[in-house]
Amino acid sequence: MVLSVIFGLVVLFIIIGGFCVFFDQAVFSRRGTIYRVKTDRPCVLLTFDDGPSPEWTPRILEELKKENIKAAFFMIGHHVKKYPDIARQVAAEGHTIGNHGFAHSVMFYYTMAEIEEEIKYTEHVIKEITGQTTKYFRPPKAWMNKNIKEKIKDMGYKTVLWSLNSKDWVSFNHKSMVNYISRHVRNGDILLFHDSGNVSSTEGGTRRQTVKSISLLARTLREKGFEFVSIEELINGD
Ligand SMILES: [Zn+2]
Repeated sequence: MVLSVIFGLVVLFIIIGGFCVFFDQAVFSRRGTIYRVKTDRPCVLLTFDDGPSPEWTPRILEELKKENIKAAFFMIGHHVKKYPDIARQVAAEGHTIGNHGFAHSVMFYYTMAEIEEEIKYTEHVIKEITGQTTKYFRPPKAWMNKNIKEKIKDMGYKTVLWSLNSKDWVSFNHKSMVNYISRHVRNGDILLFHDSGNVSSTEGGTRRQTVKSISLLARTLREKGFEFVSIEELINGD
């Protein structure tokens, strides 16, 4: 009996793990969001979720500066409160800060009033600390339904997902990550990376492969004729 329960749990773990690693659940939430911009211009946007992190965000900023890339960082409100200097550094270096909620909880668990409070409070924290007013929202784990999308739109936000997932949180090799992106990249793609966290948490973890991937990615995509643009440039054309 005990053995069959353990066996069942192992099978379940493998199925869920495989789903997370090989499939991108964001495809279920794309309708009515910005996940890619249709354009004739070969350009991409880099986005980094779940930071700021005192350990990894500065290293990512250093790489982006070397490559002259302006990215978007979808920050978690309580990480901004915990590491205000890092959040300020992101803003000072010309990157855009997006709203990724305060507690990184899946939106389905909230009432509409709680969603509003969560987003508005995160907006307030980011504004107080960095001076940036957030205009773009990315739902934790990409889970959201039609009503939540409407609510976020009514609050004046654009919901931004992604079209190409680096899967950097499970990557052991930056070269294979860049190779995957290079084989699948299209004009106007929004690329997902993380500057904090690991499989089980939004804090800690190692983003070493993410850091290492940036210069190789810049070189590889530029050789293919792609430009790296800011979120404003991609979405609003400015
Ligand atoms: Zn996240």
